[in-house]
Amino acid sequence: MSTLFVSDLHLDAGHPQIGEQFLQFLGQVTGDVDALYILGDLFESWVGDDDPQPEKTRVAAAIRRLADDGLPCFFMHGNRDFLVGEAFAAEAGLELLSEETVIDLHGEPVLLMHGDSLCTDDAEYQAFRQTVRDLQWQAQFLSMPLDQRLEMAKAARARSSERNAQLADDIMDVNQGAVAEAMRRNGVNQLLHGHTHRPAIHEFDLDGVDARRIVLGDWYTQGSVVTWSTTGPALHALPRI
Ligand code: MN
Repeated sequence: MSTLFVSDLHLDAGHPQIGEQFLQFLGQVTGDVDALYILGDLFESWVGDDDPQPEKTRVAAAIRRLADDGLPCFFMHGNRDFLVGEAFAAEAGLELLSEETVIDLHGEPVLLMHGDSLCTDDAEYQAFRQTVRDLQWQAQFLSMPLDQRLEMAKAARARSSERNAQLADDIMDVNQGAVAEAMRRNGVNQLLHGHTHRPAIHEFDLDGVDARRIVLGDWYTQGSVVTWSTTGPALHALPRI
């Protein structure tokens, strides 16, 4: 048995081949998989479950097929799709996870995160995150007309790509202190996250114990997948289609 993890597909209408690859990946999930976890940024942008983007209908149907076949499927919000709500989750047969979720993998507790909250060197982003993760802010945003939400999201994306181009590389990676703190807070020595698009398995010492941080990559440069079986985690890069 193995458990599947993906993140950072950033699906949008401008890159249909990534959606195709994900559908192909979902179609190849076999009976020895015991759960599927999508750890955020499945979508490049999400302004509400009422946005009729074509990508989401196909993807929801494909995940739904697996869920209907009895595969537990989970979704954790990323910094792009933090507004995915219960309506979409129900449509796709997904169970929504909170932003720090500890699961048991073959007897070992593993902390799952998207990863953006660990990038604490980027203070400006953390302030933005605090604003948009506020439930009152979200309710107010979602009450605006769809057109207006789409315009605001477009402007926010333009600002963020302009800013990211200017940020130093290390500011956009996780902060090791924040990693250690999150692991202590959740009583784990294994953490799996995405977001940074820097796939790797990092081994380090956490308060005298061997600790591990597994990082999923994105689906723009590769189709990054982590499988976790009795032998532990393994990182894979699916060949581009
Ligand atoms: Mn992200």
